[in-house]
Amino acid sequence: THVLVIDGTGRGHAICDLFVRTDPSVTVYYGPGCDALTDERIVPVPAIRVDDPRTALEFLATHPVEFVFVSHIDALCAGYTDVLSAHGHRVIGPSRAAAALEASKERGKRFCAQHGLPTAEYAAFTDAAAARAYVRQRPYACVVKTDGLTPDGDGAVVCETAAEAEAAVDAFAAVQGEDLRLVVEERLYGREISVFALLDGEDYLLFPTALDFKRTLEGDAGKNCDGMGSLAPHPESSPALLEQIRRDLVEPFLRGIAAEGLSYTGFVYIGAMITATGLRVIEINTRFGDSEAEAVLPGVHSDFTELCRAVLRRDLGKSLLVTDGLVRCSVALTQGCVDPTDPAAAPGWPFGPFTTGQPVLGLARFPRDSARLFYANLRAGADGRPVTSGGRVLHVVGAGRTLTEARAQAYRRIGAISFPGMRHRTDIAAAFEAGSQL
Ligand code: ATP
Repeated sequence: THVLVIDGTGRGHAICDLFVRTDPSVTVYYGPGCDALTDERIVPVPAIRVDDPRTALEFLATHPVEFVFVSHIDALCAGYTDVLSAHGHRVIGPSRAAAALEASKERGKRFCAQHGLPTAEYAAFTDAAAARAYVRQRPYACVVKTDGLTPDGDGAVVCETAAEAEAAVDAFAAVQGEDLRLVVEERLYGREISVFALLDGEDYLLFPTALDFKRTLEGDAGKNCDGMGSLAPHPESSPALLEQIRRDLVEPFLRGIAAEGLSYTGFVYIGAMITATGLRVIEINTRFGDSEAEAVLPGVHSDFTELCRAVLRRDLGKSLLVTDGLVRCSVALTQGCVDPTDPAAAPGWPFGPFTTGQPVLGLARFPRDSARLFYANLRAGADGRPVTSGGRVLHVVGAGRTLTEARAQAYRRIGAISFPGMRHRTDIAAAFEAGSQL
């Protein structure tokens, strides 16, 4: 059978890898995908554009598939699910209306408040003076967020003081002017957790949790970015916590989409904080996390094509998720300067400035075993060999019975890869190794 995956990130590669690894009979068209991939069962389709579902319609006219799996937020916001379904294709992915839960923070917060998902107190603003007055009056520290999507994960400013929050309001106002749309919310304290569930619209299958390392610099310093690595399962994952996740987050989410009549299949990724008084939602994302997919999905051994068929039949409740129980540590290899205090970093922050087209060495020698290599901003150069095409180039994932084994494998494999300006954090998940101070 053939399926089409719409994505072009390391997460997309991890989803394609999940299909071909768990279902020997599937071939994945990957649009636009990554033309540097050499797996013969993952076929890149560069003519497909994430922001234009008509490009996929054209491809599907000559390349029929059993279903399409849409996993990029830009594609969901471009109406991929709606347009392809309207043309008779079977599609897994939330509708454009449902994707607004991620695309607008105000919409996501309102959904949480209305459907009983615990979340921080918040208010939405289109006026900077009102937002400044609000942060001054709060008895707690605030987080100031821009309402819409930001490409590099820098749309939220976590503040200590009201003065910092006012400065954050002003900084957003300076950029957005008349179109200012902000959400201000109470700052929460605790450890974050990334929660994933596959939904058929009525029922769900919980996937393993993960911990994402968003900060650009060693020791969790520097600014937030898309993610420098991740660890799965989350170190605090336990049957009791998973029960809370089902009861407080995933089940209210499902009831909410049903109550609002939203069309939703595919993954939901709920970013939450484990606080002293229970779980709180930080954000709802309407697709899998990137860099969490790279650490979570290699541990899944259920036939993913079959799971998708169950989603389309709306009987996912009968399916079981088989996982291997190993620990995985994923490390992002990036290029460019990531010190946010360096003025030279500004143009392409958090990963710039950098030069694309740099040759990437050592990929062909990557052994095929429990470790994984996922391509993000990588493309085939003039001679067909892989070259860099953006800030976050690759994800290297180590697996093991213990975190120490998983980290050792990841970092050993990184040692064999090189490209000019290559940079990665050397301390991903190190604080959680046995014997470390938590
Ligand atoms: P990303 O794309 O990286 O997910 P975003 O722009 O969508 O970022 P959020 O996910 O809402 O914005 O917030 C980014 C990060 O800021 C969170 O992962 C978390 O670390 C921090 N953060 C957000 N809200 C809060 C909060 N209420 N309390 C404490 N930290 C928060």
